[in-house]
Amino acid sequence: MIPVNIPSVTQDDIDSVVSALRDGWISGEGPVVQDFEFAVASKTNRKHGVSVSNGSDALDLAFAAIDLQPGDEVILPTFTIISCLAPILRMGLVPVFIDSEPGTWNMDTTKIRDSISERTRAILAVHIYGLTVDFDPILSLAKEFNLFVIEDAAEAQGLTYKGHPCGSLGDLSTFSFYANKNLTTGEGGMVLTDNDEIAERLKYLRNLTFKASERFVHEDLGWNMRLSSLQSALGKSQLGRLDWAVSRRKEIARRYRENLEDLANISFQDDKSVGGENCYWVFGVLLSEGHRFDNAKKAMEELASKGVGTRPFFYPLHLQPVIDRFPSISRSSSLPVAENLYARGFYLPNGLGMSDSDLEICIQVARKVLR
Ligand SMILES: *Cc1c(COP(=O)(O)O)cnc(C)c1O
Repeated sequence: MIPVNIPSVTQDDIDSVVSALRDGWISGEGPVVQDFEFAVASKTNRKHGVSVSNGSDALDLAFAAIDLQPGDEVILPTFTIISCLAPILRMGLVPVFIDSEPGTWNMDTTKIRDSISERTRAILAVHIYGLTVDFDPILSLAKEFNLFVIEDAAEAQGLTYKGHPCGSLGDLSTFSFYANKNLTTGEGGMVLTDNDEIAERLKYLRNLTFKASERFVHEDLGWNMRLSSLQSALGKSQLGRLDWAVSRRKEIARRYRENLEDLANISFQDDKSVGGENCYWVFGVLLSEGHRFDNAKKAMEELASKGVGTRPFFYPLHLQPVIDRFPSISRSSSLPVAENLYARGFYLPNGLGMSDSDLEICIQVARKVLR
């Protein structure tokens, strides 16, 4: 079976981790972590980078670091990962879900204004599957209504929106360095900001709310979300290949598109959005009405039986059963674009460590199965 993701790990990556081990820097303290944070922040045009254990923690920490009260509303796309909803529900905030655009699969920013109420305090904007969400309308609404903007750039590291790096667009922005992301530390993540005070608060909450004086006396509860030096050493080495990672993903997508484009009743995510070019963090296929498979599951089963691994698309957040555990949260009505993406969408192998010959096999099998 060709897995949906094989990460790219090079000899340089291995050497970098070994050298951190040799130098004795292994914990979440020390120069290797700071060096990695500084390098990511610089590459992203940001003043501060605060590394954490994973991209979900990055979102938890970002929400915890800003001033939000239970009952405050947060606007976010419904078509995204559970990590975006978890901090909102845990903090007693109220999610307000926005449907996707049919072509970009990103949050439809024209629908945000009507979703703003007196309780709205923040917008969580997410770049989906390597295509940037249109950020200018988000920023101008945020200014007009005095809202925080959190940018989840986990699927868009190394990309730009109108020339600005993804990860530099929100008041706070987050990355994940999970094994399938453009830059990986195995597990890892980062919160980025230009705000000195917020950066201090992020570091304080990440590190068990230890203080410089009276270290073991705590006024707040935090977490241990520290990224280790070993992970940071890997990340520093991976960062040198980030631009290559983006172009390799584009290349894989180009090969898939060239060979599948003529098939009837399937479509792909747009190649471009208002301010960005798709890097195809994952290569998604969307079946349309009239396809011999009336849902993604059947297509995925047949691909698996022929040795090609796939993943389903996100299950829309507004449908998540876990919402029932929060009786104060009322369910949104149907958000049909995202629901259709889930029913008929899946993605094909496109890992950065995938060989050209495996890619050829995936293309040939996909052509046969999806015809
Ligand atoms: C991967 C991802 C996350 C979560 O990151 P983890 O490191 O897996 O916790 C959050 N948001 C988006 C958009 C992601 O793709």
